[in-house]
Amino acid sequence: YNGRSGNTLVARAISKLRVKDIKSLPVVARETVSVYDAVVTMFTEDVGTLSVVDGDGYLSGVVSRKDLLKIAISGGDVHKMPVGMVMTRMPNIITVTPDDTVYLAAKRLITHQIDALPVVRTFVQPNGQERLEVVGRLTKTNITRFFVELANDEL
Ligand code: ADP
Repeated sequence: YNGRSGNTLVARAISKLRVKDIKSLPVVARETVSVYDAVVTMFTEDVGTLSVVDGDGYLSGVVSRKDLLKIAISGGDVHKMPVGMVMTRMPNIITVTPDDTVYLAAKRLITHQIDALPVVRTFVQPNGQERLEVVGRLTKTNITRFFVELANDEL
């Protein structure tokens, strides 16, 4: 393997790959649902991160396993505390679009030390305000699965 050639099968496959090619369906929770219900959703949907949406259905935050565990071990009332109070909030959310490369997505996951990115489309409201519509999620698992399938094809 010559890592400098930039012309290997792996390099070519990766540079062309787009988020829309490997993304998963979105899993979202309303800001108003309880920490308890968010935990239940993580189990039933088998995900580690939820996109959180406002009353209009637009992205307002992201909540991870540890965000929820923090409340559980600090004695917060998981039945009363809404995820909106414990999530990481916009505009501090790292996202990708369906046409972004998976390489860009992977770099964002590493740079920001996170496990998942909401895949979004920008929706401009009549008053000019921009809102993000959640159309999928891209996780480390998607990338690992692609990597394994690529190897399966070549071996
Ligand atoms: P965990 O906290 O379960 O280890 P992550 O490493 O993905 O999961 O999350 C670390 C922190 O970063 C959490 O506080 C979470 O809310 C936040 N976070 C996760 N994903 C994103 C994202 N796409 N954009 C901004 N913040 C995020």
